Amino acid sequence: MAAERIDGKTIAREYRARVAEGVAKFKQEAGRPPGLFVVLVGDDPASAVYVGKKEKAAAEVGMHSGIVRLPGDASREDVLTRLEEIGSDPAIDGILVQLPLPSHLDTDEIQRAVPALKDVDGFHPQNAGRLLLGQEGGFVACTPAGVMVMLEHCGIDLRGLEAVIVGRSNIVGKPLAQLMLAKHATVTICHSRTRDLAGVCRRADVLVACTGVPGLIRGEHIKPGAVVIDVGINPISDPEQARDLLAGQPRRLERFEKRKSALVGDVHFGEALEKASFITPVPGGVGPMTVALLLGNALEAAWRAHRRPRN
Ligand code: NDP
Repeated sequence: MAAERIDGKTIAREYRARVAEGVAKFKQEAGRPPGLFVVLVGDDPASAVYVGKKEKAAAEVGMHSGIVRLPGDASREDVLTRLEEIGSDPAIDGILVQLPLPSHLDTDEIQRAVPALKDVDGFHPQNAGRLLLGQEGGFVACTPAGVMVMLEHCGIDLRGLEAVIVGRSNIVGKPLAQLMLAKHATVTICHSRTRDLAGVCRRADVLVACTGVPGLIRGEHIKPGAVVIDVGINPISDPEQARDLLAGQPRRLERFEKRKSALVGDVHFGEALEKASFITPVPGGVGPMTVALLLGNALEAAWRAHRRPRN
């Protein structure tokens, strides 16, 4: 039987509606909207699109939102100075720096310059550390947090389940492992040096792919009835690859022929559909959840700022 598709767009829309209600309540109590600002360095077109989407989504739920744009050749000092300015602005509760940064900037250093209390991306070492230690009061990275919301929405109780995460990045794989562990899953993390990837993946009751490798996970990696979460968002333009990865999706293949490009996940969707119980599509799966959770984190940052005693 074909897997049930997890509709990330609908789950994200519902989540954003709840955030919008929270924003209205916050405005009433605090007399101001929550503020979310994105820092964009350079003019990478994909980053510009993502940043635009985040700002629009924040404005749609009633937040005070904005983009701080810096030129691609901005110096380390320029970026740090701007971050300090917005970091100390009481009208701005959440700040995120759009990645990737130009190569002359040290990403770790720039991310550390976002005050932990405003780090709605959850990348600051203080927030990553709190997650690792299971401490309340930090911010959790939006994509893994979004995956957890999706699983909960589908009524999947992780207690005792085997979860296999393919990918160990700081922004997806590692924080997701902590979140799943906290929900009592038995968690295995795979990466590029894992031996017998298919064999390890076949143990999974819940299999998450976050590698950036189009179609890495095939039918042979999936235990019948597993829940498959595909975090990857990968542009492809090779017709042969498209015919392979979009097999069984005639409309998407047709669109590929017209546009000469498509976005695919890390999972071969057609093969996974035949074996999984639940599956997230790409696009329209995990992607929309990331922005929704960002808004949730920004609202939470605003409440925390409002409740913090002033001296
Ligand atoms: P990174 O490149 O930072 O990490 C990729 C991970 O995958 C690494 O741990 C790497 O292993 C592992 N990996 C790569 N190739 C293989 C392989 N052949 N077998 C097993 N493991 C492999 O990627 P990100 O975590 O930043 O992103 C992953 C994907 O998720 C991308 O497609 C990205 O676009 C997407 N993404 C989607 C988001 C969303 O909102 N839906 C948000 C963020 C990312 P190693 O450590 O050994 O190198």
